[in-house]
Amino acid sequence: TTHLVWFRADLRVNDNLALAAACRDPDARVIGLFISTPQQWRDHSVAPRQAAFIWQNLQALQQALAKRGIPLFMREATDFTAAVGTLDAFCTEQQVTSLFYNYQYELNEARRDALAERQLEGRVACQGFDDSVMLPPGSVVTGNGEMYKVFTPYSRAFLRRLGEGLPPCVSAPKPRAGGALSEVAALPPFDYPSETPDAMLFPAGEEAALKRLRDFCQTAAGDYPEKRDFPAIRGTSLLSPYLAIGVLSPRQCLHRLLTEHPRAAEGGSGAVWLNELIWREFYRHLIVAWPHLCRHQPFIDWTARVAWQRNDAHFQAWCEGNTGYPIVDAAMRQMKVTGWMHNRLRMITASFLVKDLLVDWRRGERYFMSQLIDGDFAANNGGWQWAASTGTDAAPYFRIFNPTTQGQRFDADGDFIRRWVPELSHIPGKAVHEPHDWAKKQGAALRYPKPIVDHKQARVATLAAYEAARKE
Ligand code: FAD
Repeated sequence: TTHLVWFRADLRVNDNLALAAACRDPDARVIGLFISTPQQWRDHSVAPRQAAFIWQNLQALQQALAKRGIPLFMREATDFTAAVGTLDAFCTEQQVTSLFYNYQYELNEARRDALAERQLEGRVACQGFDDSVMLPPGSVVTGNGEMYKVFTPYSRAFLRRLGEGLPPCVSAPKPRAGGALSEVAALPPFDYPSETPDAMLFPAGEEAALKRLRDFCQTAAGDYPEKRDFPAIRGTSLLSPYLAIGVLSPRQCLHRLLTEHPRAAEGGSGAVWLNELIWREFYRHLIVAWPHLCRHQPFIDWTARVAWQRNDAHFQAWCEGNTGYPIVDAAMRQMKVTGWMHNRLRMITASFLVKDLLVDWRRGERYFMSQLIDGDFAANNGGWQWAASTGTDAAPYFRIFNPTTQGQRFDADGDFIRRWVPELSHIPGKAVHEPHDWAKKQGAALRYPKPIVDHKQARVATLAAYEAARKE
C-alpha cells in the first residue's frame, strides 16, 4: 500500500492531521506531493513574496520529511483543474492506494478537492481533514444549527466548545521503518514571480515558527491587550505568514498559549490573543456557511449598490503610499517593502480606500492579496468587508475613521511614520501627522504630497453614497 499526502496550505510535519493519518499504518509506503499552480495563483493574486515563502517552507518541509523517510515530490499544473489531472497521473505512476489531504475552505479550492475525489473514486481511497482550524466549520452554531452572523456570540459558543474538550495536537510522525532518506532532490523553482522575504522578519521553517510562538506566549501574550494597537512597537505575534500557509496550526497556538496562560479560555491573561485566533476561525467558518463570499459578493446585499468611484489616480496613490495622509502612506509602504502590515493599519488603510476615496473594496482586497506574505482569503475578505461595512458584524457604514486622528492616536509620537516615510523623517514628534502645517510654520518646503482628498468632504460624499444605495 502507498499512502500519498497532498500538501497544500499545511507545510509542516507537527500537528498535521493528514500526514499523521497517512503514517498510522507502519507498513505503508508514505510519500508527499506538492503541486504548484502558477496560473491559478495569478488569478488569485498570490503575492510573489508569499510564493517565495511557500517555496522556502517547502524546502524545510522536504528536509523534515526526509528525516522521517518520506520523499516529497513537486509537480506543476497551470490551475486547479489541471492539478487534479496531475494528481491523478501521479497516483497512477506511484501506485497510490490512499490519498490524505487537509481541507481548504475557499470555493475554488473546495471544488478542486471535490473533483479530485470524484475522479479518483474506486481507485484511490480519499480522506480529508479539518486541519487549518481549531474547530471544524459547522461545529460552532446557534441553537437552530446555523452559523453565527455576529462575532461575540460566536466567540462565546466557541469558548464553550473548547471548555468541553480541547482539539488535540498530533505529534510529528516517527521515522518510517526504512529510516531517513540518504538523498533529497533539489526542489525546482516555481514558474511564478518571486520576492524573497526578509529572513530576519520571517525566517522560514517550522522550527522558526514554533520558536516565535513559544517566545510570544512566554513574553508577550500577557501584554498583548496594551500593546497590540501600536504599530511602532512589536506588540503582536507576527505569526500570520506561518498560519496562512500552515507552517503552524491554530491548535499549536492554542496549546502553547494555554501552557503559558492557563486561564486564557476563561477570560484570564492571554484571552485577548485567543480572541484574535477565534476571529480567524470565524472568517473561515463564514466562507463555508456563505460560499458566495468567495465570489466577490458582499454579505449585506444593499451594499452591492454603492456607486464606487473609479479614480485610478487615487487608487494608485493609495497603493504607492502617496495619499498625503502620513499614517496611511507609512502603512502602505510597510506592506510594499515587507509584505506585512499591522492590523490597526490594515483597518485604517482599508477604511481610507473605501470611505475616503470611495473606491470599491474589492480592488483593495485584491491589491492586499498581491502584496501580503500572510495573504489568506477568508481573513482578508473578512477584514475588507468589515472595513467597507459590507460584511457580517462589520463596522456600521456611518462609522468613518479620520485618518489624521487615527494616526495621532495609534502612532502618537510619529515614530512609525518617520520610519516608513523618509520625506517626513526630519519632522519632530506629533507634528508629523500634519506635515504641511508644520512646513508652513517653518517656512520649509516639503517633498511630500498634499492630501489627495479633504477628509471632511470625502466623509460627507461617502455617507451620501451609502445612504443612496441603502434606500434604493
Ligand atoms: P496577532 O495579533 O498576533 O494575532 C494572531 C493571529 O490571529 C494572526 O496571526 C492571525 O492568524 C489571526 N488574526 C488576528 N487578527 C485577525 C483578524 N482580524 N482576522 C482574522 N484573523 C486574525 N490576516 C491574515 O492572516 N491574512 C490576511 O490576508 C489578512 N488581511 C486583512 C485585511 C484587512 C483589511 C484587515 C483589517 C485584517 C486582515 N487580516 C489578515 C487580519 C490581521 O490584520 C492579521 O492577521 C494580523 O495583523 C497578523 O499579524 P499577527 O500575526 O502579528 O497577529
